[in-house]
Amino acid sequence: MADIVLTTLNAKYIHAAFGLRYLLANLGELKPRACLAEFDINQRPLDIAEVLLASNPKIIGFGIYIWNVEQTTEVIAAIKRVRPEIKIILGGPEVSHETEEQKIVQLADHVITGEADLKFAEVCRALLDATPHSALRTPQFSKIIPAELPDFSQIAPPYDLYTDDDITHRIIYVEASRGCPFTCEFCLSSLDIPVRQAPLEKFLGEMQKLLDRGLKQFKFVDRTFNLNVATSKTILEFFLARYQPGHFFHFEMIPDRLPESLREIIARFPPGALQFEVGIQTFNEEVGDLIKRRQNYDKLADNFHFLRAETGVHIHADLIVGLPGETVESFGAGFDRLIALGPQEIQVGILKRLRGTTIVRHDDEWRMIYNPQPPYEILQSKLIDFATMQRLRRFARYWDMVGNSGNFIETTPLLWKNAPPYQSFLHFSDWLHVRTNRTDGIALTRLIELLFEFLTAELHLDPKAVAEIVWRDYRRGGRHDKPCFLKSFLSEEKIVPLRKTRTTLPKRQARHLV
Ligand code: SF4
Repeated sequence: MADIVLTTLNAKYIHAAFGLRYLLANLGELKPRACLAEFDINQRPLDIAEVLLASNPKIIGFGIYIWNVEQTTEVIAAIKRVRPEIKIILGGPEVSHETEEQKIVQLADHVITGEADLKFAEVCRALLDATPHSALRTPQFSKIIPAELPDFSQIAPPYDLYTDDDITHRIIYVEASRGCPFTCEFCLSSLDIPVRQAPLEKFLGEMQKLLDRGLKQFKFVDRTFNLNVATSKTILEFFLARYQPGHFFHFEMIPDRLPESLREIIARFPPGALQFEVGIQTFNEEVGDLIKRRQNYDKLADNFHFLRAETGVHIHADLIVGLPGETVESFGAGFDRLIALGPQEIQVGILKRLRGTTIVRHDDEWRMIYNPQPPYEILQSKLIDFATMQRLRRFARYWDMVGNSGNFIETTPLLWKNAPPYQSFLHFSDWLHVRTNRTDGIALTRLIELLFEFLTAELHLDPKAVAEIVWRDYRRGGRHDKPCFLKSFLSEEKIVPLRKTRTTLPKRQARHLV
C-alpha cells in the first residue's frame, strides 16, 4: 500500500524510467509513503489500472511521453471511472505544451509542466494531509502547474533508486547536464535553455557507486555532452581510469565540436567502449538555416574521419526525412554523404511534429501535414507527397533491419556496387516491399534469403561470391546452420563454424565491432 504511486508505461521493459526515480528521490518526508510502479506499452491498460488500484493510492503520478500517451489515457480513464477520488497528476514532455486539447489532460486533476523534480513533492504535500490516512485537502493549485526551473544543486540524485535487478537487466540512464543552447526547431530540447551542469564532484560520486554495484553500461541523456569540453573531458577521464572489459558508455554529441583535448582522451578508450549518438539531421544547408540548425560540415566530416580512423567509437548518426525545404533528392544526397563518412549506424527518422516545438511556423509555406496521432509523424509536405513519404518510411524501417542491425556488415555495401547508396537501397526497399508486403516480422533467415535473391537475381551479382559474403555475415552472429539456399554455392571447407566472440557489449554494437 502507498499513498503516492509514481508510474509510467515504458516503451520496453528494458528501459528503466529515469524521470520517475527523480520524482521519488525528491519527495522528502513523503518518500516512505510512495512507491514506483513501472509497466510497458504492451501491457493491457485495464491490467495496469488493476495493479495501480491494488495499492489503494491517494495520488497517482504518471510520466507521459510520446510513446505512451494513448495507452496511458486508457489507464487513467478506467481509474477515474472506478475511483474518481484518486488524484491524478501528469508530467513529462508530452503534457508540457499545448495541453488544452489533450484528452489525457482533461481526465487528470493536475498537470505539472516542465521539470517536475521538486514541484511534484510540493503538489503532493498540498494535496495530502500531514497525517497519514486522512482525507485529501482541497487543492490549492490550478490544473496546469508550471514548474520553475529547478536548481540542479537542490535536486536529490536518483541513482540509488536503481535496484540491483535494474543494474543487471535494464538500461540505466544518467545525466551530467540538462538543456541545450541550440535552436533546432523540430526538437523539444531547443526550448530547454539555459544549459545546467550537475555538480560534478557529487555526480562522479554517484557514478562511482554505480560502478561499485557492478553497472557496466551507462546511457547519458545529456542533450549535448561535448558542449562543456572541460566537464566532458573530466567525465571521460573518470570512466577511462576505472575501465573494465564490458564497460559501455553512450553519449549524445554535437558533431562539429571535438577539440584536440577531447580527441586525445576518446582515442584512449578500447574499441566498442564508447558510443556517440551524433545528430546531423540534414546535409542541406538551406534546410539547416530554415530550421535554425547550423553546423560546420567540414568540421563534422573531419571529426567523423578522426573517429573512424583513430578510435574504436561506435557512431550512431541521425538523419531526418521530411524537414521543410528538404526534397527527396537532397535527402538522398545527404544519405550518400553520410554513408561515405562511415558511421556504423544511420538512424533515418521521420520528422515528428512534437508539441511545443517551433517547427509549426513552416506549416503553411511548406504545406506540412502531420499525423494527428502520436508520434505525430509527417505525412506529406510541399516537396514530398504522401506516397513518396510512405516509400521513405519503408526505406527507414528496412534500413534499420539491414544496415543498422549489424547482421549484414559485408553484405549491405554489395547493394550499392553499381549505383549510389541511397538510390540502391531505395530500389531494394521497393523490391522488398513488393515481395513481402510488410515492414516487420520478417525473420532473419528469410531476410537473408531475400537479400541474396535481390543481389543475384535483380542486381545480377555473381551468386558464388555473394553466397560467400552472406555466409560470413551469417556466421558472424554465431550461427552454424547452413541455410539451404546457400548450400549449392559453398564448398564444404567454407562451413567450418566460426568461434563466437564472447562479449558483454549490447548485441548490435558487438556485431558491428566484430
Ligand atoms: S537537436 Fe540536438 S542540438 Fe538541436 S536543439 Fe535538440 S538537442 Fe539541441
